[in-house]
Formats: sequence, structure tokens, C-alpha cells
Amino acid sequence: MPYMDYVSGCPVDERVIEAMLPYFKHPGNPSSIHSVGLEARNAMEEARGKVASLINADSSEIVFTSGATESNNLAIIGYATRNKSKGKHIIVSAIEHISVINCAKFLQKNGFEVDYAPVDSYGKVKLDELENLVREDTILVSIQHANPEIGTIQDIEKIRDAIKDVTLHVDATASLGKIEVNVEKLGADMLTISSNDIYGPRGVGALYIRKGVRVNPVILGGGQERGLRGGTENVAAIVGFGRAAEITMEEWKSEAERLKKMRDRLIEGLLKIEDTFLNGHPTERLPNNASVRFSYIEGESIILSLDMEGIQASTGSACTSKTLQPSHVLMAIGLKHEEAHGSVVFSLGRWNKEEDVDYVLEKLPPIIERLRMMSPLYLK
Ligand code: PMP
Repeated sequence: MPYMDYVSGCPVDERVIEAMLPYFKHPGNPSSIHSVGLEARNAMEEARGKVASLINADSSEIVFTSGATESNNLAIIGYATRNKSKGKHIIVSAIEHISVINCAKFLQKNGFEVDYAPVDSYGKVKLDELENLVREDTILVSIQHANPEIGTIQDIEKIRDAIKDVTLHVDATASLGKIEVNVEKLGADMLTISSNDIYGPRGVGALYIRKGVRVNPVILGGGQERGLRGGTENVAAIVGFGRAAEITMEEWKSEAERLKKMRDRLIEGLLKIEDTFLNGHPTERLPNNASVRFSYIEGESIILSLDMEGIQASTGSACTSKTLQPSHVLMAIGLKHEEAHGSVVFSLGRWNKEEDVDYVLEKLPPIIERLRMMSPLYLK
């Protein structure tokens, strides 16, 4: 039964579970100075090295967090509050994850000014408009590497050039393990990543903070993570994240090729259904993302009908699906409300096989036809 909702959640790889198991029982606190504490610290530091290698960073530049949301909070709120004497203007793109948008809104309520960089109909940040938004007092720009909902990949190197020497935070949650994520090549000063998106456990992520970049902690406690994130570290989860990073490093390239072939066949088949359109960029997109919209019908009814056939997909960001508002991402690329509502994201991952694509392409057309026959918007 094809699970095609890896963007909402990924299974944890068996090899990762195996690496984690000893640390569930292990009592060591990495801050204890005795030998058992030291064992936990060593395991954690080994994992930090693996996570750092995956993105071409130094171990000392990695702060473990509880996930991408917390990393985004630390990057944006932590950086803005620490550097407010240099300026109080920040820029985020219009299609950022809600955790970035809400941090920006929080800062706006607390004396900062925020601009939202617009995107074109493919979801690419408009570089000239971004460049024009940069001011004397701009201290931070936060732009995602790739969008989980429409799959579009940003030209971060060009964005880096456009904003000159302003500090750049990149949310690479959706791109890690799918395309190359290299902090040096990207020119990122801070970069958000998350464990579950590379088949590690949930509840752990990291923020890369380039040497010399100063941020305030947002979780205050006993000075763990070089004073940037208080609280006893989740050693088992961190070990799992490290193992997941190691596996990703070895396998991502061949895996991306495999996923891309499946994705292309899926998109080709989906677009054969009439009045169906691709969301996002046709080529500069994540290798595992097929985001489409079906005219005249609601994404939610498609998802539920697919589920009855054993296929799981999503209508967009699982994190905001409770609001019933059309996705801000689809609005920002210029879709009308009714177009945005008919969108479905198929996101592929490590355990999908070619047969899954065949199965979806067999089951979906009759579902779309049945739902359209019931739709008052469908007049054919
Ligand atoms: N950023 C992006 C680009 C995401 O796709 C997500 C959701 N996976 C997040 C941040 C937040 O991740 P989490 O809910 O795991 O904190």
C-alpha cells in the first residue's frame, strides 16, 4: 500500500533504530563528569561530527534542537534579538514554512520591521525584488532551500549575492538528503535541518551557526549546547540523527536518481488526467515531490478517497492543514482560492517502489472522475 506522504512524516530507518537502542537504556547525562556521563557525551559528539559532515560544516557549528521549528526560532528570534543594535529589519520569503512566518510576525509585534520577498508563479524568489528590499538596517534574510509543498528549489547562491553581506538563514528541512546541502557552497550563515526528514527519529534537529555569528538562546537552561540551548540533551535521538546523517551521506545521490525517475513518471501520468496542472517549477524541483492541482474538486476529498485505496498523500503542509485556509504558499504563487483547494502533494521516499506509481496511476483517475461528477463547479 503506497505511502506517499514523506513530507509529513518519514519512517525511521532500521539501521538508525539499531544505533539508538543502546542509548535508550543508557543513563548517562552528557553534562556529568563521570565515566558514564562521558560515554553519553562521546556518543553525542560523534553524532555531531556526522551531522556536520553531511552539510560540510564544522562540529562546533552545530547546535542540536528539538527539530526544524525550534531551529528556525533560534535562528530568527535568537539572531534578531542578539543583533538588534545593528538594525531592526528582516526579510523572509512569502513561501516560508509557518514556523519562519510566525517568528517573523512575532518580531514584528516586538519592534522589528519585516518584509516578505515575493515569488514568481513557480515559487522562485524574485531576485531583483529581494535586492530592492535590502536596506541599511536589514540584519537578517531567511529563505528556504526548497519548498516542501510545491517542490521548488531556490537559487541560494544567487540569493546570497543579491543580499550582499546581510546574514542569511536557510531552512533546508525539505532539501536535506534530496539534493546537495553544503553550507559553504550555499553561503549560508545559519541553516536549519531536521532528523526525521532523513529517516532519523522525530524530536531532534539542528541549527548550523557559522563561526562568528552570534545568536541569543531561545530556550534558557543549564548552558547546554554552548549556552545556546538549555536542557538535558536527548542522547538516543541525537545518536539516531547522527546515524541517519551517515546513511544519507552514502546514499542520497543514488536515492535522488531513483526517486526522480519515479517522480517524473508519476507527474507524467497525473497530468494525463484532464484539467490537472503541476504546482511549482517543472525542473528545478525536489526529486521526490509531485504537487498537482485538479480543477473543480477539493484536495481533502481526494486525500480521503485515496486513503480508502491505501494511498496516503497530503493537501499541503500537514502543520497548517487544521486552519482550512488555502495554503499561503499556493496563494503566493498566484493561484485562486478554488485552484489552491484542489491541490495534492505526493511525496516519495526511501521505501517507495515503481509499483507504487503504477498503483496510484490506476486508482486516481476514477476517483477524480467520481468527485468531479459530484462537484457543482464541474459543468461538463
Ligand atoms: N521547515 C520546513 C521547510 C518544513 O517542511 C517543516 C516541516 N517538516 C518545518 C520547517 C518544521 O518541522 P518540524 O515540524 O519537524 O519542527
